[in-house]
Amino acid sequence: MREAAPVYREHSARTGFAGNPLDRLSEKRDDPAFVAALRHHPTTRTILIVRDVPLLRKTATGHAALFTFAEAACLGSAGESALLGRTAEGAVFATLLEADTTIGDGDDIVAIDLRALALQGLVAAPLIGMLAQAKSLMYWHARHRFCANCGQRTALAAAGWRRHCEACTADHFPRTDPVVIMLAINGEECLLGRQRRFAKGMYSALAGYLEPGETIEAAVRREIGEEAGIGIGRVDYVASQPWPFPTTLMIGCFAQALTSDIVIDTTELEDARWFSREGVARMLAGAHVDGLTAPAPIAIAHTLLRAWVEGPRSAAPFWTVVG
Ligand SMILES: [Zn+2]
Repeated sequence: MREAAPVYREHSARTGFAGNPLDRLSEKRDDPAFVAALRHHPTTRTILIVRDVPLLRKTATGHAALFTFAEAACLGSAGESALLGRTAEGAVFATLLEADTTIGDGDDIVAIDLRALALQGLVAAPLIGMLAQAKSLMYWHARHRFCANCGQRTALAAAGWRRHCEACTADHFPRTDPVVIMLAINGEECLLGRQRRFAKGMYSALAGYLEPGETIEAAVRREIGEEAGIGIGRVDYVASQPWPFPTTLMIGCFAQALTSDIVIDTTELEDARWFSREGVARMLAGAHVDGLTAPAPIAIAHTLLRAWVEGPRSAAPFWTVVG
């Protein structure tokens, strides 16, 4: 087995769902004998997903998320199964149980949404990363059983990392949908906004889906322009986060504000304001004088705010002009 990857002190490592220790064995996915042998190995376990939610077994000390295939067979009829990867403890698969699987009351088996699992820290961080990988991949399988090209039924291939259409020979690959999330920075202040659905008093970084044909920088400038009317110069990448709701990659950036007058798009935002470093530090600590709050530590918005608060006093290093 290869050496475990070194852990770098990068901002992405601080985000929720990022700590995934699995060696994905991607070069072995097209070797059916290898995958079958791994599946039948006594140390192999599977994560179970039912209706987009992982199943857990309550234990004396917390919650367990890894099952044997024999245990899985007792809980419901299995649909697609994919090889997620391997750690020193063994291989981990993800298995979709049919949507009509019933989880009995009073049972020690529970279905808990990933957001609640992460927020409450019900399982260890490495397992949260694996559950995110399993949930996003199984979400895709559950919704791509028919060919988008010809409409015929597709079959799982490459140990769960492809679907193939026999009728038209098209291959389909799991989706990851990129979203840009960014702090516009104007000297010693940064821009945060709030949507009506947010918890009372919470402000967060602006965000939006990257569109086809767009660079990350162009998407950042467009979103801040649309939502808050701020002109943006330089854009710098800071961190990314796999966000399994359902299959998103959050791409966190700092954006150099060229203007400061905010013009809110009221269909997107209820409010947007400039916040000082001191104000943001208090929001992160839960000690803001007006009770304003920042997103929880599992969210990349929290990571971006922390990186800015703890970063250099001058934004200059972020906007070094190139070319
Ligand atoms: Zn087809």
